[in-house]
Amino acid sequence: MADLTHADWLERAARLRPVTVHHIDGADHAGTGDTFTVIAPRDGEPLARVARAGPAEVDLAVAAARRAFDTGPWPRLAPAERGRALIRFADAIEAHREELALTIALEMGKPVAEAYGIELRAVAATFRWYGEVADKLIDEAPQTAADAVALVTREPVGVVAAVVPWNFPLTMAAWKVAPALAAGCTVVLKPAEQSPLSALRLGRLAGEAGLPPGAFNVVAGEGPTAGRALGLHPEVDVLAFTGSTAVGRHFLRYAADSNLKRVWLELGGKSPNIVLPDADVAAAAASAAWGVFFNQGEMCTAPSRLLVHSSIADDVVDAVVAHAESLRLGDPLDPATTMGALVTADHLARVQGHIARAHADGARLRTGGQRVDRPGHYLEPTVFDRVAPDMALARDEVFGPVLAVLTFDTEDEAVRLANATEYGLAAGLWTSNLSAAHRISRALRAGTVWVNCYEEGGLNVPFGGVRQSGHGRDKSLHALEKYTDLKTTWMQL
Ligand code: NAP
Ligand code: MG
Repeated sequence: MADLTHADWLERAARLRPVTVHHIDGADHAGTGDTFTVIAPRDGEPLARVARAGPAEVDLAVAAARRAFDTGPWPRLAPAERGRALIRFADAIEAHREELALTIALEMGKPVAEAYGIELRAVAATFRWYGEVADKLIDEAPQTAADAVALVTREPVGVVAAVVPWNFPLTMAAWKVAPALAAGCTVVLKPAEQSPLSALRLGRLAGEAGLPPGAFNVVAGEGPTAGRALGLHPEVDVLAFTGSTAVGRHFLRYAADSNLKRVWLELGGKSPNIVLPDADVAAAAASAAWGVFFNQGEMCTAPSRLLVHSSIADDVVDAVVAHAESLRLGDPLDPATTMGALVTADHLARVQGHIARAHADGARLRTGGQRVDRPGHYLEPTVFDRVAPDMALARDEVFGPVLAVLTFDTEDEAVRLANATEYGLAAGLWTSNLSAAHRISRALRAGTVWVNCYEEGGLNVPFGGVRQSGHGRDKSLHALEKYTDLKTTWMQL
């Protein structure tokens, strides 16, 4: 990949024939002929017409997953065999890394270099990691009196439906699909309507890599129809969702109105990033800018509230602005691009609405704020300072490249500001004081606290939120808990 030029990627894009049909029971499935159009954010032009799943296709996919679970080989395979199948799938993903990265860049607008270097690396690594742990799990035999034996075993929950967003189309999918499959569950994945192409290719690839029919199904369709049908389906045992807090609420209602399926929610965020006066200012500013503009700011964990001590605010903000202005905003297929296009015209308009509101509320624009005058959905990286805690920009998730800078004078005030949100996904903290690092990270209400870094981690640490950022944990062995039930077997001797 390193040596592919802009022209190479353009030529590959012209040759790409994306998969536009569902993957159900190990085969392509075209549905009823009803389709919807995917628009390429890079130029606003139609990219593909994709089969649209309604309740009938969802029923077929769930029935296939149900059969594969109830009578198929997947849950009955020896764990080592299941693990080897997942590792073969990881190998197939790596073998198709270029095609999948290109598909993601085309459908949702992130730089192809990041799709290839970051997203596809994560996706293959996730399937490999869960493949490797599949045969290393050990159940419990609690101690009992001499006349009994107790076993506490973990069993796969059954059929898992995964409904995911478009910002990391395959990473968010892999974080759910890989542990669910490793646990012995079967899966139906519904990607976001903006980014179905990479997921449909992944479904077909699962078949090519030899996963048994029905173990992993993919249906493309819209949230209020296909997503809702999965949420209400009586044969879905677990619903694993990543997306907005508003849609997360729908899934809790669907579960309540149907079979009380377990719902796991990974939701939105408005993450604070605190810079204390003793921090490495250059490192903090570089990371703050990278974090909020990475992936066009379309990150659930984006450190979108920079809370900086007033004594160093000017230095930090000047450095953040310089980083913002050094980004190369442009065609996602140009390997030199560091910021691509926002996912849709509607989303661009929503982000512009947040910018207009920040102006009206009296925040000060330091850089950016404008749509780029070219086809496609491009928006300049944007920094507002003098943001007051009660302004909308300090509270609402923008999910775009817009940073809100607030200042504080004491540690208590920093913590109070940081926690003044309904969300609790992640937080950043920059300090050279070890005691302050421990004290403040304990006080922050967030699923992840990054100290002197941001977005770091590996597959062996859990990821997820608290409060209205949700409750499930993706990654690590803990993710397996979402897809397994504990069974107690008590034997009287
Ligand atoms: P979204 O609108 O909530 O959509 C997420 C998924 O839900 C999509 O597949 C969507 O399908 C589906 N959906 C929409 N309405 C539905 C309904 N009424 N019933 C059932 N399903 C429905 O979120 P998004 O705009 O794709 O992504 C942005 C959001 O995701 C942000 O809030 C972000 O913070 C969050 N996110 C969270 C994490 C995390 O790990 N915590 C990671 C990434 C993103 P359609 O696309 O077809 O509508
Ligand atoms: Mg949506």
